[in-house]
Amino acid sequence: MYKNFPKIELHLHLDGSINVSLAETLLNKNNLESKMKVNNECKDLNEYLEKFTIPSEVMQTKENIEKITYTLLEDLYKDNIIYAEIRFAPIKHTLNNSLEEVVEIVKNVLDNYKKIKTTLILCMMRDSTFEENKKIIDLAHFYNLPIDLAGAEALYKTENFKDLFMYANKLGVKYTIHAGEADGIKSIISAVSFGAKRIGHGVRIIDDIGNIDFVKGITFEVCPKSNIDTKAFLEYKNHPIRKMYDKGLLVTISTDNNTVSNITLTEEYENLSHTFNFKEEDFFKMNMNAINAAFITETEKEELKKIYIEKYNIWKGDINK
Ligand SMILES: [Zn+2]
Repeated sequence: MYKNFPKIELHLHLDGSINVSLAETLLNKNNLESKMKVNNECKDLNEYLEKFTIPSEVMQTKENIEKITYTLLEDLYKDNIIYAEIRFAPIKHTLNNSLEEVVEIVKNVLDNYKKIKTTLILCMMRDSTFEENKKIIDLAHFYNLPIDLAGAEALYKTENFKDLFMYANKLGVKYTIHAGEADGIKSIISAVSFGAKRIGHGVRIIDDIGNIDFVKGITFEVCPKSNIDTKAFLEYKNHPIRKMYDKGLLVTISTDNNTVSNITLTEEYENLSHTFNFKEEDFFKMNMNAINAAFITETEKEELKKIYIEKYNIWKGDINK
């Protein structure tokens, strides 16, 4: 039902969303599926992150990175994504290229792709050094891009990254932060205290859902399937997205990793519609939340809303035929 529904994707990792057959071709290897996608036995986020070994191997040359980025865009286009924010950690792809070169390779593919509007987000990594992450902020500043903080949240606490985000604030670099996914509500409190207006996941807000004033105006990039894969919640029905939405939090829906989580955004909408009885007007609202929080200018947001509503009305007309 939601295949042709226009969708906004705010939280998508390039390296977690590599087309498997393309990776097999590029690496000249077979049967990579089980190495790139999690199954139901995945125990936690740390095991989930092991699925990024092949991506790190294959995304090391200009040619491969270009093909991977382009193929992802084509896959998103087929899924009727009309605006996507794609993120990756440049530091993981510097065997043959400098940080600057890697950023430019991905950025150029995105900028030249006209079928979907996109924004590139540069990820700092929790296991990188302060200096390495500071370099990412400088690059983001130079290219006028937003940043993110990704990696093993329970091992490297959000509160320890305050100085980096103060530096980003000083330069005017915008950001989202993975928080309240593998670690608790304290991680969300830290992220918000730094000045984050967007939180990656943030689902642990459910642990103190009576006390949510501090996240008023904060947009949540919720990726349900990914949370189930990492065992933040055991099943869809246990996922807090419905409660978060009903409490009036600014919920948006993303996939996190198309390949690792083995899910498209359309499939995620279908799952949520079946499990929580979300209707088209709910998804519409979540997409408006996404546009409002997007890392684009106010003028671009107005244009995108116009395009979105046009496509939404076409979709509505088609399903009511
Ligand atoms: Zn993520």
